[in-house]
Amino acid sequence: MAENTILKTATYNLERSALRLQLDDAMHARLCAPKEKIEITLNPEFSNGKGVHIKTFIVRHCDALGPAKGGIRMSPDVTIDDVTGLSMEMTWKTSLIGVPFGGGKSGICFDASSISAQDKEIIIRAFTRSAKRHIGPEIYVPAPDMGTNEKDMGHIRDCISYSDGTSITRGCFVTGKPIVLGGIVGRREATGKGVVYTTLAACEKLGIDIKKARVAVQGFGNVGSVAAIAIAQAGAKVVAVADVHGGVYNEAGIDIKKLEAHVKSTGSLNNFAGCKAISSDGVLEVACDILIPAATQSQITIDNANKIQATIIAEGANAPTTPEADEILKKRGIFVIPDILCNAGGVFVSYLEYTQETQREQMTLEQVERRLSERMKSRFSEVEAYAANKKLTMREAAMDIAVSRVVDAIVARGFLP
Ligand code: NAD
Repeated sequence: MAENTILKTATYNLERSALRLQLDDAMHARLCAPKEKIEITLNPEFSNGKGVHIKTFIVRHCDALGPAKGGIRMSPDVTIDDVTGLSMEMTWKTSLIGVPFGGGKSGICFDASSISAQDKEIIIRAFTRSAKRHIGPEIYVPAPDMGTNEKDMGHIRDCISYSDGTSITRGCFVTGKPIVLGGIVGRREATGKGVVYTTLAACEKLGIDIKKARVAVQGFGNVGSVAAIAIAQAGAKVVAVADVHGGVYNEAGIDIKKLEAHVKSTGSLNNFAGCKAISSDGVLEVACDILIPAATQSQITIDNANKIQATIIAEGANAPTTPEADEILKKRGIFVIPDILCNAGGVFVSYLEYTQETQREQMTLEQVERRLSERMKSRFSEVEAYAANKKLTMREAAMDIAVSRVVDAIVARGFLP
């Protein structure tokens, strides 16, 4: 495989699953090809009066189980293939975690860190206006992903209700909104906490005492920072954390709350007191029991898979492991909690937000956290039991369960229009 991409990883994982499940060629081809791919060019004018041209993509991979669900990635190098691969992953993730959604994803080719908040809002609103006919509670419901956050989701909701001339939207058009606009308590933390619930379940299975475990985390954004805090609260020692600019290491353990405050005040992980500097990818190779890749795709590759020292890899990021690296990890007996299970807490709580808004209900943090923790643990057990029964890895088992459910939905719908 020449180049590692999310689409290649997603296609490979589906291909393996299709073989194990003995899917016929027509069904396999149907699951490979997204239902709809849209490319939209935005031409907004920034606050300085200059016009810009921005490519954006929306892919709805499959809606057999329900409306497409998946976040908006804003990054200068996101491609339509990345968005396609990510939307495919969302189809399996929603199926596996058991919510009535299909898989979708969006991409906005722009570096959000290079512009003001006002100009970012201009892009988000331009995207919403242009993409409005592709977004809706029964079609595609976006959410935050890398480079976007709850503030952006608030602008999307406002833009849609504004153009409809209403105060609220008719149903849930977007999740991950600010709580004051109908967002749900606990959504921001849901992915990172879900990562930790599945990691604790894996520790229990493998007989690892979390209070003696050392943890390394790549990525200190939404997923990585919440996971680092939650796992430290569970008693583990976080020894290394890195983001795109590098990171910090301390064998004796890092005070994550203080590190978070340091990042808030200085804008960077660098120069945190008492820690040595490490590189963005060096964090993957430090001596630890649990490794949480929570940054971006294709980080664990053929080049470093043999150097990983962890017993458990909890995939907070989407597609952080390439297929070749996955084979190496399998041979080495490293226990991988696959992305479609490990980071599914976010989409599960998005589903709670969707039902809350649809039913004009309100849920408490206690209710959200209880349902999240129960769902993550029960799906972990389901995947683990299937893997043990069929002698598969957790990824293989998770894929086979997820793909089977999507196939069942397609067959149950029938093939006539
Ligand atoms: P984010 O933008 O909040 O944070 C990303 C973090 O990763 C930042 O700290 C960034 O510096 C770091 N990073 C980026 N490239 C890196 C590199 N090459 N090396 C080291 N660090 C790097 O994004 P997020 O929402 O935390 O998402 C992280 C991952 O989790 C993505 O793969 C995303 O698709 C996945 N994910 C996110 C959610 C969610 O609810 N936010 C849900 C499921 C999966």
